[in-house]
Amino acid sequence: MRITLFGTRGSRPVSGLQYNCYGGDTTCAAVFADSQKTFILDAGTGICGLNQIGDKELYLLLTHLHWDHIQGLPFFEPAYNTDKNVLIYGKANGKGVKKVLENQHERMNFPVPFDAQKGIKDIFEFGPGEEIYDDGELSIDTLLQNHPSGGSIAYRFRERRANGEYATFVFSTDYEPEHNWLDDKVAEFWNGADLVIADMQYEPQDSEREENKYKPGWGHSDYKSGIRLATVAEVKKLVGTHFNPLSTDNYLVELESRMKEEAGRVAEQLGKTEVETGLAQPLQTHILPSESYVL
Ligand SMILES: [Zn+2]
Ligand SMILES: [Zn+2]
Repeated sequence: MRITLFGTRGSRPVSGLQYNCYGGDTTCAAVFADSQKTFILDAGTGICGLNQIGDKELYLLLTHLHWDHIQGLPFFEPAYNTDKNVLIYGKANGKGVKKVLENQHERMNFPVPFDAQKGIKDIFEFGPGEEIYDDGELSIDTLLQNHPSGGSIAYRFRERRANGEYATFVFSTDYEPEHNWLDDKVAEFWNGADLVIADMQYEPQDSEREENKYKPGWGHSDYKSGIRLATVAEVKKLVGTHFNPLSTDNYLVELESRMKEEAGRVAEQLGKTEVETGLAQPLQTHILPSESYVL
């Protein structure tokens, strides 16, 4: 499978020269499976980078319904194309995924109603922990994570490669570590993955840095928690995303070097293999070449 980021920003979109490398659009990633199926993770403003996609069938998997994860959907052109078959998956929340998406299109908010999105053929709600997809070659599992308003969903993709081995990718954003049993569940969910793309919105709790200061209860993680979890879970590569709008390119370049140091330190401390680290860059980045992860 190939994984490409289209939106890497948390909370709200940003623009300006200081965001050229690490991007300004809110959360969206795509998984292009070897079977030619395409899975889109979240519908932040980054989803507009997929407006010209040729696929007839598109699976849109929502981690949760906070605005920065759905605000691109009213501008996603395939959703209006009757010939498309867009299937949306979201966690059951009592109110209904459809109802929340419809609210974005209330006439006072947006001039086009939700039911004009004729490309959206179905909305599936599932319980956390359910396997939502399995075609024999690729399966997708889910996990409930600690996040305000009922939690967010992490997705784990497992695909059989041509050589019979498996490639595993986990998308685990909008998650606040609790340093208890819930974290053990996250480590278990990440276990042995080739790639984990994870929340790195804030500085760690013990950081004295004022920029991107950790906000208890706001539902986000940091590079130290991510590296510790990934090392315990023997993840091959850990990539941070969901950047604070205040995180400029200069800050994130410096964070990448701190991540590398931390990965070495934690590996030594735990007697484990050092996890490879990095930060997400979206496809539409203006200066650096786009980056896709091929597993
Ligand atoms: Zn978010
Ligand atoms: Zn959120």
